[in-house]
Amino acid sequence: MVKNEMVWDLSQLVDNVEPASIQKQLDDMVTEAEKLRAEYHSKVAGLDAKGIRNLLESKDALTLKFEGAVRYGQLSYMANSTDDTAKQLNDAVRRAMTKFGQALAFIDIELGGLLALKASLIRDPVLVEYRHYLERILRRVPHMLSESEEQLIIAKDRNGVSAWELLQSDWLSTRTFTMEIEGKKKTMPYGEIIGLYQSPNRELRKQARQSVFESLGKDDIVWASAIRAVCEDHVEMCRLRKWSTAMTQSLIENDVDEEAIESLMKTILNNTKLYQTYLKIKAQLMDLPKLADYDLLAPLPKSPEKTYAWMDARKEVTSAYGEFDEQFGNWIHDMYEKRRLDGEVRKGKASGAWCSPWMAGKSAFVLQSYNGRMTDVYTQAHELGHAIHSHLASRAQKPSNCEVGSCVAETGSLFGELLLTECLLKKAKTKEEKQAILVIVLDEFSVSAFQVSARVLFEQSLYDAIRQGQFLDAETINKLWLAARNKINGDAVEWLDVLKWDWTRTPHYYIANYRFYNYPYVFAQLFVFALYRLYKEQGRSFVPKLKALLAAGSSKSPHELSTELGFDLTNEAFWQNGMRQAEEFVQMLERTL
Ligand SMILES: [Zn+2]
Repeated sequence: MVKNEMVWDLSQLVDNVEPASIQKQLDDMVTEAEKLRAEYHSKVAGLDAKGIRNLLESKDALTLKFEGAVRYGQLSYMANSTDDTAKQLNDAVRRAMTKFGQALAFIDIELGGLLALKASLIRDPVLVEYRHYLERILRRVPHMLSESEEQLIIAKDRNGVSAWELLQSDWLSTRTFTMEIEGKKKTMPYGEIIGLYQSPNRELRKQARQSVFESLGKDDIVWASAIRAVCEDHVEMCRLRKWSTAMTQSLIENDVDEEAIESLMKTILNNTKLYQTYLKIKAQLMDLPKLADYDLLAPLPKSPEKTYAWMDARKEVTSAYGEFDEQFGNWIHDMYEKRRLDGEVRKGKASGAWCSPWMAGKSAFVLQSYNGRMTDVYTQAHELGHAIHSHLASRAQKPSNCEVGSCVAETGSLFGELLLTECLLKKAKTKEEKQAILVIVLDEFSVSAFQVSARVLFEQSLYDAIRQGQFLDAETINKLWLAARNKINGDAVEWLDVLKWDWTRTPHYYIANYRFYNYPYVFAQLFVFALYRLYKEQGRSFVPKLKALLAAGSSKSPHELSTELGFDLTNEAFWQNGMRQAEEFVQMLERTL
């Protein structure tokens, strides 16, 4: 009985769970996509507004019709990757999705061509629901190249930037690292040794990082060559694609503007003292004169060993959401009641936590491995916040408007974590319990808002250096990394010398054809803290605003959404609301000392 409650019921996704029936649906999905292609390919240029709407509605209808079979295959595999049937179904889904994507890729390309000539179509009232979808296509048009140039780029990337990316991830996944544990030498792969970074044993944390970064530093020529190639390739692509700055591509992809990101980053730099104050308080809580880099994410030594049974977590999370809004509470209750969460710990299950939207069911499915720690309750609240986002967006929007960009995609989830915090703090009986809660929240805030900001500054400085004609060898890159890191951390952290190699292990810097991966994390974190601050100030009247924001999905840009709700993302005063909320948490923690 208890076991069943922690295992999800995927049968609700489809009428028939027989593998042959799922396979048949996937085949039909491809056939219908090819039919749609036959009907519209090379004809989009001649469509009027009504014709465009029909095309996009047909595509959305296909997505919804076959979503259940697709999700069933994917989620069965995530739930049990050792099961042969699940493996085969997941494989079939991947093949079918590739064909589906290939068949329908012409739509956005041809729409781009049409809109470049007739941008006024975007304002046609017939297309009101697809307005922003079309605006996003149009924003990409000036940066597209001819078909043969695009093909050439794919070909040169395969053995160029993509090869550097692969080299970096292969290095991390194939090297082993040696350190001493209880007097014995132990050799481990990367995935295992980084598990020690958060060990309660300080010496182990230190040794683990020393061992990894020392090894990374020995191959400095490899990393510097890779970063140089990836960055210089991007500079070349900026020229060819007419992206005005190194960040332009990512701004387009994330549907945000430069002014908003500038004001976000200024707010971060203006508040580094607040972050450093938190680090000093955490050092006191750990009985240390100063935190070392390997203490930044360490648990508090005196944290209570409190665990939460599944039902207790369910109660906490449901009431956290329910106190904010009755409908939220009901949806969360439904998620548990209809068994759309998988929390059981078992072999073969995908690691980490994840929320998969289910638009056709106007709901979602959540996966995590629930171990009963307080951080597991947080993860559950986080993923269920994504589920709330799906509940709202799938009721209000077409599937094309449910692809929310990363700056806003974490709004429901991070907001939910703060609602949980409020509930847990109210019930905390001892100061140690309070400290444990606040440190979870402030550690996460510190990483996403501040430590990730160092990476944004670093990436920016790489392009500034290239523009000034500097050659990016390992020593130069180290200097740039230390400058960015120190700008954020000041003198609040004691660093191991080998941490100058920190930039070598971050896969984001090596991703082919995608620069500036990092600021959306900063955006998301501070955005939600700012919203939560406004909720605290405005009370109930704020609730419909958050719901409107989530319900909009990707039908509006973050800028447009915020403006409608009365916030100005280009104004530092908005972002400062988030800092005021962080400051309140820091002060609460300080009072427990
Ligand atoms: Zn998330």
